[in-house]
This record gives sequence, C-alpha cells and structure tokens, in this order.
Amino acid sequence: MASAAASCIFCKIIKGDIPSLKLVETDTVFSFLDIGPLSKGHALIIPKYHAEKLHELPDEYLPDVLPIAKKIALAIGAEQYNLLQNNGRLAHQEVDHVHFHIIPKPSASDDQG
Ligand code: 5GP
Ligand code: ZN
Repeated sequence: MASAAASCIFCKIIKGDIPSLKLVETDTVFSFLDIGPLSKGHALIIPKYHAEKLHELPDEYLPDVLPIAKKIALAIGAEQYNLLQNNGRLAHQEVDHVHFHIIPKPSASDDQG
C-alpha cells in the first residue's frame, strides 16, 4: 500500500506535511482536531500506520486508542460524546486511513457561555 500511503491526507498529517491542530501523540497514534467539526472539540485519533480499514490494521496500533480517547474526552470536558469509527463508503468513511472520531454532544446549557 506504499502508493496509497504516499497520497493519504492523514499520513501527510502524521508526517507534518499537512498542518493540523495536534492534541496528543504516542508511538502508535496521533490525534488532532477535525477540520470540519460536527461540534466544538470534534477530534480524530489515527494510527501511525496506513491501513484503510480497522480489520487491516496490525494489533499493535490499537492499545493506545481508547486511553487517548479517554484523555481527550477529559481534556475537552465532554460529558456526553460519541466515539465513532467508519469503515467503507457505505459506512460513511471518506478518508481511507483508519480513524476514530470523538464528537462532543454539548447540551443546550453548554451554549450559554
Ligand atoms: P470519515 O467520514 O472518513 O469517517 O471522516 C473523515 C473526517 O476527516 C471528516 O470529519 C473530515 O472533516 C476530516 N478531515 C478530512 N480532511 C482533513 C484534514 O485535512 N484535516 C483535518 N484536521 N481533518 C480532516
Ligand atoms: Zn494513511
């Protein structure tokens, strides 16, 4: 998959070739704010390995994902949120590099300053 990785937006973000608002990084995962947030704080966690779908990802890239998701949820103060991961066009995947969304669900009172 060398050529797919070479043209992959998320691989370029990991390398720093495309700028991103980075949150947390470990040896195996990178996280940053989504460029088109569905709500304030919408974040993405991606493995530092180019695989299109979850079942194609080597296991060693998975253990940091949930602890980082938890860390981000705590840092952005999201009490209610979705942790989502899409695989394939029918499942609404647009970027073909495995990624996990953290999408805060602010309550009406959160909007009042
Ligand atoms: P998907 O629909 O594939 O699960 O979600 C892909 C997500 O990646 C979308 O929410 C989209 O806004 C985000 N995204 C696409 N390109 C970029 C980019 O260049 N930078 C950042 N930060 N997010 C991106
Ligand atoms: Zn990639």
